[in-house]
This record gives sequence, C-alpha cells and structure tokens, in this order.
Amino acid sequence: ESLVRTGADDIERAAEAALRPRRLEEFVGQRVVRDQLSLVLEAARNRGRAPDHVLLSGPPGLGKTTLAMIIAAELGASLRITSGPAIQHAGDLAAVLSSLEEGEVLFIDEIHRLARPAEELLYVAMEDFRVDVVVGKGAGASAIPLSLPPFTVVGATTRAGLLPAPLRDRFGFTGHLDFYDADELERVLLRSAGLLGVSLAGEAAAEIASRSRGTPRIANRLLRRVRDWAEVRGDGTLSIEAARAALAVFEVDDRGLDRLDRAVLTALCTRFGGGPVGLTTLAVAVGEEPETVETVAEPFLFREGFVGRTPRGRIAMPAAWAHLGLDVPRDQGA
Ligand code: ADP
Repeated sequence: ESLVRTGADDIERAAEAALRPRRLEEFVGQRVVRDQLSLVLEAARNRGRAPDHVLLSGPPGLGKTTLAMIIAAELGASLRITSGPAIQHAGDLAAVLSSLEEGEVLFIDEIHRLARPAEELLYVAMEDFRVDVVVGKGAGASAIPLSLPPFTVVGATTRAGLLPAPLRDRFGFTGHLDFYDADELERVLLRSAGLLGVSLAGEAAAEIASRSRGTPRIANRLLRRVRDWAEVRGDGTLSIEAARAALAVFEVDDRGLDRLDRAVLTALCTRFGGGPVGLTTLAVAVGEEPETVETVAEPFLFREGFVGRTPRGRIAMPAAWAHLGLDVPRDQGA
C-alpha cells in the first residue's frame, strides 16, 4: 500500500514542480515576506556573501519549498534538499554538511522533526560553520573539528512555535507565510492555467479560488481536477459549470472544506457534543495522526472560525454547527 501511495505522491509532486514559480517576482502574494526576503537577498548579493539562515513557517502548501528554491535561484547558488524525518542519525546530517560547497543553500523541510542529536550538530554548523566528526568508539573516540565553507540553511516548519529556542535563534530571518486571499489564489490559478495551456474562465477561477482553503497547492490541485472533468465529461473548457461539477465530484464543499476538515467538525460536534476535546482524542476519532490534524486541518478551521481553542481543548464554534446543518445545543456558550 505504501508503494501505491508513493507512486501517487510522486505524480502529484511532478505536477506541482511544473507550476512552481522560479523567481521572487513570479511568487504571488505574501507581500511582506517577499519584500523582506528580497532585501535580505539583495544585501547578501551586494556583499558577495551567503545570507543569514532563513526560517519559513506556515501551514502546508503555502510556498515554503518554492521560496527555498527561489532563494537559491536568486543567489545563483545550488540547492540541496533534505528533511527532518529523512535524517535518522546525526551522522547523516554531518555527511550532508561536510559535502556542502561554498554558498550552497541547504533546505531542511520539516525541520521541527529533526532528532535531538542532529539538531545540536546543526546549531554548531549554523553558528560556527563547523562540524565535529567523531572518529573511533567508546573511550578512544575523539571529535575532529571540520570547518565548513559559508552556506545558508533554509528551514521550513509548520510550527515555528515548537522549534526549540536555540535552533530558532540561529536563523537571522524568519518569514511567516499566511493563508492567501481569494484574489491572490485567482492569480495563482490563472498563472497555472497559462502554464498548463488551458483557458480558464474568470468565474471558474474565482470559484476554485474560493474553495481552495487559502492554499496555492490546493488551488493548483483543484485546477487539475477541473481540467480532468472538463476533458472527460465536459467540452474541454474550464467553465464555471465544469468547476462546480468537478468540485462536487471531489467532495470539496462550498467553503472549501475537504473530507478531513468535515470529519474533524463532525466528530467535534456529534461525538464530543461540541467539546472541549483534546487534540489527541479528536485525532483518534478521525483516524489521523495528531500532527496531521493540528497542522493540516486546524489552522484553516481556526482561521475561518469553525473551531476555537480553549485551555481544555478544541470547541465547535457556531459556524461549525451551521455548516453541518445542525442546531447549536442549548448549553453551548461558544
Ligand atoms: P510548502 O513547501 O509550503 O508545503 P510548496 O512550496 O511546495 O509549499 O507549494 C505548493 C505548490 O503551490 C507549489 O507547487 C507551487 O506551484 C504553488 N505555490 C505556492 N506558493 C505560491 C505562490 N506564492 N505563487 C504561485 N504558486 C505558488
């Protein structure tokens, strides 16, 4: 089963890669982060030095990987890509670090998932451009310091708050990516349609944008599904009718909530009477990892006012009951 999943993921990744902006000026929205980054990059270019390490935080699909690639491209540097979960041992990270060339950009996705020993090795490398290579074992082991050429770490995390302070402090610049508004998503969609060579009606772009959970990755994915529908069941044009029909087939509702979002709301309202309920209990009820519920579903549900957070757990807000077509129970003060 995991093989099938990987295959499907690879196809999605390839489709995504084709739509990635390559330059900062092509990157839609996120004006604040874009301005800040362009300043940091230009200053570094003028000095002829690698810029400070960059941390990018925000929910999945908002453009962290894309920005890491853009940073490397804007610096004319090559990019090395790894991720917290891919680094099993500190030694793996030491190997990556010691092979870096001057000015290279090292992208570490899901950096909050690095194991502690690797994290500690990374602080030192980021601060002092040094790794201690351990040779030998037990009492005879010794650490040989190896100095590294200047390089830039770009870390991405869905949860900047949970990054240990010592690691967070090593980043000279942190950019927080926020959900995109409908106008920005429309621009993403029209740009993508151009790259895919399909003509997307303005109304259809607006419809897809409003149902994309503020997320470019989702907007692009829905665009491809609308194209599928238009080619197979429609007349090939990406019209508003095609958009509505395709979104219905793929179970994206009028607020853009998907299956997981609705499962979370339904569990919260019907199994837990509106809460408060803890994250782990809620995750078990929908059959997902707590991290998935917390980083994939919740940020949007909080932002849209469907779910609230209290010290005792998550609660359903009136909008959640209304969205599910349920009456708010009398004893719900939310
Ligand atoms: P993350 O790393 O935050 O999960 P990605 O950088 O992989 O997100 O972005 C997901 C997809 O969304 C990319 O393939 C890219 O095509 C698209 N995308 C993200 N941000 C933008 C943007 N600002 N402008 C245009 N496309 C974007």
